[in-house]
Amino acid sequence: MVDHRPAVVGADGSAWSLQARPSTAPSRRRHTERPEPAGNGPGGVYVGLRRPGDRETVDVNGAEGCRAARERARAELASCLRDVRAVVLDTDGVLVDSARLHAAAWKDAFDACLRAHPPDDPAQRRPFDAGEDYRRYVDGKSRLDGALAFLDSRGLRLPEGGAGEEPGVGSVRAVAAEKERRFVARLRASGARTWPGTVRLLRGLHAAAIPCAAVSASRHARELLAKADLTELFRTVVDGQDAARLGLRGKPDPALFLEAARRLEVAAAEVAVVEDALAGVEAGRRGGFGLVVGVDRTATPESARDLREHGADVVVGDLGELLNAVPGSAEG
Ligand SMILES: [Mg+2]
Repeated sequence: MVDHRPAVVGADGSAWSLQARPSTAPSRRRHTERPEPAGNGPGGVYVGLRRPGDRETVDVNGAEGCRAARERARAELASCLRDVRAVVLDTDGVLVDSARLHAAAWKDAFDACLRAHPPDDPAQRRPFDAGEDYRRYVDGKSRLDGALAFLDSRGLRLPEGGAGEEPGVGSVRAVAAEKERRFVARLRASGARTWPGTVRLLRGLHAAAIPCAAVSASRHARELLAKADLTELFRTVVDGQDAARLGLRGKPDPALFLEAARRLEVAAAEVAVVEDALAGVEAGRRGGFGLVVGVDRTATPESARDLREHGADVVVGDLGELLNAVPGSAEG
């Protein structure tokens, strides 16, 4: 009969099975000192933890084994993350590839507004740029703040409008409502995607027992995370609904991030913030967080520089760069 039980490799590099329980070789003693689980027979049900190339296997049963597994997972993180006790991540553009949906919905709403209210200066009548205008004026902010910032950049002074404003072009809130209507339609039509590097980092943090929170100014964050199958990797989510209920100010105010750190029960100085928006990295800096990671998915000549100038300590193009990094490679 073929023995399919996993092999265990001792500190001296020799292979031996879990059933064999050498009692004399000091280098193997760590694998034999653990009490045998009752009812599991010789060798118990130990599960070896060994990576290709490792000479030593550590069993992962019990507190010692769990601690070893966590330490190995932590060692897989980029050096800038190894000392943090929690990570708070922005949602749109960091966890879920939804920034393009937001940008496209804003373009629909703003271009309709620009056509209805052409600015006096012809140079300001150009359509909304879903790349640069989105990044500079809208990304990371609440809908109202984003609408105000962009319209102000084009010299448009519309009335703010009232709560519950219908979608349209007659007021700032109407433009914001128009964007919301367009965004929901696009989200329902296309769903939500994430990036492989994002999933690998989240799983690495989970294995290292570093709790994570997802943060968003959007009321759709939970729906986006669920559609991308990421919900279970977060201990808490702070989104636009929480912001409205708790009266939290939007980014660049750090209130959303600080609420996430409070729920994780970790001081901001020991928390890393991961953000792709200029307003978001600024919020991380204002909040006194221990590390602010900027995510630059556009890779324009200005984008990484802008993230650093607004408060990012480290800038990466993909969250996978925060794993298996050559020491120092993900440092600012
Ligand atoms: Mg974002």
